[in-house]
Amino acid sequence: MSDIKQSDTKDEAPSLYAKHQVIHPRSTSGFYTNLRRLAVISLLGLYYIVPWLMWDGRQAILFDLPERKFYIFGLVFWPQDAIYLTFLLSLAAFALFFFTTLAGRLWCGFACPQTVWTEIFIWMERWVEGDRPQQIKLEKMPMNAYKLRIKATKHLLWISFSLWTGYTFVGYFTPIHLLTEELIAFNASGWETFWVFFYSFATYGNAGWLREQICIYMCPYARFQGAMFDRNTFLVAYDEKRGEPRGARKRNETKELGDCVDCGLCVQVCPTGIDIRDGQQYQCITCTACIDACDEVMVKLNRPKGLVGYTTENNLEGKKTQILRPKILIYGALLVFFTSAIGYLLTQRIPLSLEIVRDRNLLFRETNEGFVENVYIVKILNMDQKDHTYQLVAEGIEGLKLELGQKDLKVPAGKVVDIPLSLQVDPSKLTKKSMNVVITAQALDNPDLKISRDSRFVGKNK
Ligand code: SF4
Ligand code: SF4
Repeated sequence: MSDIKQSDTKDEAPSLYAKHQVIHPRSTSGFYTNLRRLAVISLLGLYYIVPWLMWDGRQAILFDLPERKFYIFGLVFWPQDAIYLTFLLSLAAFALFFFTTLAGRLWCGFACPQTVWTEIFIWMERWVEGDRPQQIKLEKMPMNAYKLRIKATKHLLWISFSLWTGYTFVGYFTPIHLLTEELIAFNASGWETFWVFFYSFATYGNAGWLREQICIYMCPYARFQGAMFDRNTFLVAYDEKRGEPRGARKRNETKELGDCVDCGLCVQVCPTGIDIRDGQQYQCITCTACIDACDEVMVKLNRPKGLVGYTTENNLEGKKTQILRPKILIYGALLVFFTSAIGYLLTQRIPLSLEIVRDRNLLFRETNEGFVENVYIVKILNMDQKDHTYQLVAEGIEGLKLELGQKDLKVPAGKVVDIPLSLQVDPSKLTKKSMNVVITAQALDNPDLKISRDSRFVGKNK
């Protein structure tokens, strides 16, 4: 057996494992930082406030899974409305393609939940531990009472915020007032308790500990977004022509240097720990922090801003950026199509569902009066928020008679009613063995609530 250790060989394979380096991004200020703050505050504000909004005596937005109803302000969606979800998902996909092709990864930098929650966790961290230099100092410090107190305070804050997040999340699925009472009385169901803690744990883990690792290693969007980029896509980039050769300005410096003074601030503020001067990298989430950091340096040096900027590859090469291009026009047209389709479907939506099921045990029978009779089960779902009484009408064969299993067809709001229905016709009116009939349900108090379904009427061979 050879006594040469594997690590002694020259062509040792590089390790596939890289130890995680904790990133302490330095705080920034400036135009893009303010924009990001605004995005974080408004998006998180919406998330925490929306479950508390009321509409017509109920929660305005509620995804009631046990009842299989989605309440969105004045609208109630049922599983029968799955078409809206399909269109909405298509709209979201094309909106992502459109904005990525046009403006790069703005979603990642400003609106993705991972970024938004990470940002607020970083704010809390800075509030407790201080900015990057203090955080690094604290990290290097051996554990002592001071460090323990600071770390415990930070984690307590993170955990409290995570619990609030988990509780709010469940409040989108269980009425939040009821959930609050249940939690205070330690009376919440097992599932509600599980999801509050699960979502809290996910928030604490993702925004507190994993942070940029989610974007770099787990997010599929980071991997395929490059396919949507072209030379006219806006992205965060370093102007190499202007910045190089980089270097610190020394007294009596004779070498001709570019505008980059190699201060490293653009790297220190980066939440994913990359150096934008190395060119485009999939780890860049377009948070734009490096732009503000570099602009501050340029202002101090009395140089024009924009050495690191939000620009396009064509711009950097001195060429014109073309905004309107085939990809943008195609994605834009699809966006308009799906938005209009959803708008149109919503205006045409009738909160009423009707199903007609033929009695399969008996094709037809003859009544004592000599009529041919077919029996059906009619299922009426009142998807409206008011009770309605409906009338049923059958058409398609001359002299068609309709008899209901009950006199009054009253269906309470949000309920479904199954009733037997009999259609009878004089056999002489049957021109074929099986004929089409149309059954219509219409609310007596609102003629617009009207829906029709086709079915078959089966008789004897002539
Ligand atoms: S912040 Fe600007 S000047 Fe400083 S290293 Fe980065 S690119 Fe160069
Ligand atoms: S390179 Fe700049 S824009 Fe990209 S993630 Fe880092 S700081 Fe944000």
